[in-house]
Amino acid sequence: MPKILDGVAIASEIKREVAEEVKLLAAQGIRPGLAAVLVGSVAASEIYVRSKVQTCADLGIFSDLITPPESVTTAEMLNLVAGLNAREEIDGILIQLPLPSHVDTKALLDAVSPDKDVDGFNPINAGRLQAGRLSLAPCTPAGIIEVLKRSSIPISGRHAVVVGRSDIVGKPVAMLLLHQNATVTICHSKTRNLAEITRQADILVAAIGRPGFITPEMVTPGATIIDVGINRLTTREEFDRYFAGVAWREAAFAKRGSTIVGDVHPKAFELSGAYTPVPGGIGPLTIAMLMSNTVRAAKMRRGL
Ligand code: NDP
Repeated sequence: MPKILDGVAIASEIKREVAEEVKLLAAQGIRPGLAAVLVGSVAASEIYVRSKVQTCADLGIFSDLITPPESVTTAEMLNLVAGLNAREEIDGILIQLPLPSHVDTKALLDAVSPDKDVDGFNPINAGRLQAGRLSLAPCTPAGIIEVLKRSSIPISGRHAVVVGRSDIVGKPVAMLLLHQNATVTICHSKTRNLAEITRQADILVAAIGRPGFITPEMVTPGATIIDVGINRLTTREEFDRYFAGVAWREAAFAKRGSTIVGDVHPKAFELSGAYTPVPGGIGPLTIAMLMSNTVRAAKMRRGL
């Protein structure tokens, strides 16, 4: 039976550690602070941001939720970011993506001070990460490393295959795995003979954004599978393709009219040695690592 890597439990452990650090900082008169910028009213983004703000409150981190209207311009957003860069009580700046299409996302991510870039999306932090310097690493990739380490899954010398090469997941997780001495292969939509490569993986990271894309033929028995994908299934036909007869999924689907599936087919998990489920795997780590990065930024900015 494969081991299920419980992201909820690992995220709780990290949040407990962060809360302890926040207490220690409080004793020195320091309270880490996070500014969360939520543009417009995209339902999923609102849920994510509110959950981030709530977690700050739970851990004793100051937070400021800023909600510009959908019509905000790039210039106004750049002004806002400049203000946050200058605010002493703000250690981390989070701009919830995606932004409306008329806003220049890259310009904004570039404008966030690297010292306050708790999402790790500024190219300066991407460069620091690549060079192996102290930096704020993107939260989801950093969370993946935490899951592997805290689950005692060896990384050094293992072959890690990452499917997906986005700037926010695929590339940074590949870099972090490399720094942990894995032998890393990065695959993408132009990769030939993908299954041949994924079958060589001791650690297979799926960050694609396609439901059930990694099928059993793509997995070698005993591999560790990290499923980063978050895909919502909304039709009965799609649901049946993955989960027909799975009681708790049926109940959730009947209640909400949708269910979440990762990038890995449930049958592929059965072959693995260990895997992160969806939901309850990597997702919860992203917020935990955001909190961890905010405290780290607060300490780094003060030379601690
Ligand atoms: P992107 O769309 O930015 O990147 C997807 C990657 O998958 C691309 O590199 C793309 O290749 C590759 N890909 C697409 N189709 C194929 C294919 N047929 N064969 C091989 N590779 C393919 O997605 P993200 O990295 O932002 O996110 C990936 C998934 O992770 C999504 O489901 C997202 O919702 C989820 N996610 C989850 C988070 C969490 O907290 N758990 C956080 C962030 C994301 P190419 O570059 O060639 O186009």
